[in-house]
Amino acid sequence: MYPFIFTKVKDSAEAISTIGANPHAKFIGGGTNLLDLMKMNIEKPAQLIDINTLGLNKIEVQSNGNILIGALVRNSDLAYHATISERYPLLSQALLSGASAQLRNMATTAGNLLQRTRCYYFYDTVMPCNKREPGTGCSALTGYNRMHAILGTSDKCIATHPSDMCVALAALDTVIHVQNATGSQTIQFADFHLLPGDTPQKETVLQPGDLITHIEIAPLPFAKNSTYVKVRDRASYEFALTSAAVALDVRGGTIKAARIALGGVGTKPWRATAAEQFIAGKPANGQTYIAAAALALKDAKGYQYNAFKIQLSKQAIISALQNTGG
Ligand code: SF4
Repeated sequence: MYPFIFTKVKDSAEAISTIGANPHAKFIGGGTNLLDLMKMNIEKPAQLIDINTLGLNKIEVQSNGNILIGALVRNSDLAYHATISERYPLLSQALLSGASAQLRNMATTAGNLLQRTRCYYFYDTVMPCNKREPGTGCSALTGYNRMHAILGTSDKCIATHPSDMCVALAALDTVIHVQNATGSQTIQFADFHLLPGDTPQKETVLQPGDLITHIEIAPLPFAKNSTYVKVRDRASYEFALTSAAVALDVRGGTIKAARIALGGVGTKPWRATAAEQFIAGKPANGQTYIAAAALALKDAKGYQYNAFKIQLSKQAIISALQNTGG
């Protein structure tokens, strides 16, 4: 580690003005990813601004049915919140499938949105990595890429987005609230994370000085009928090889509407929109599920060690659809 300034702030305005005064400062909430990155000399902030005192740790059900979730709500508190587990089981299940109980007790909602890839080359500072050091190359393209992405990749980076929570949020109608020195804005979840393209170091649309204050989830009545399926190398404390978040509106044996999002296979949380459109109006049966899974992976590109993920991801989708739709 190296020396850095640690600053406590009393409110959002002070947090934003403090970060605006130092381009090398970062906010810290739970710190479950940031501190690891600092210990490994990947992140080197000159100042950490502790935002745990801002009161952004509440889950509020609004009069319009939306749920407003503070940026600092811990993953455990969100997963076990009665309204979340009743209305959005896929979100509770996704959260509880991530990390360990200790980490979930510390990790925050905003931190989960911003967590960085677990690509082994990103963490190995002697290896080329365009995300860590733009222009140096991507060691994973021709290296050991078993954990890497098969959707949304570029010739600059094939790292997966590591979050489980974000897969569920991608399937829901989620909006992210941000404050900065000029005011506040909202960002649709689908627009928040960026594909790697030629600039894999840019992972979200956030600008320097932006503070995530809340996320907001709109009502989706059929999300009560939802599932998160995660496939991984061991039963806990492991990132997804592939995962599927599915919500289905099934009436009289027919699928009226669907939400399908994938994890562990995309360079960002991956919404399978074409599969959702295909499945609407079809009978809830195995034939429909197999065709939907094939459509969801239609554009997948396997690399030397991860081509198996294409079939594995299809199976995860089919399994989630069966669990949800019968
Ligand atoms: Fe770096 Fe991305 Fe390549 Fe991993 S996949 S080595 S994060 S550029």
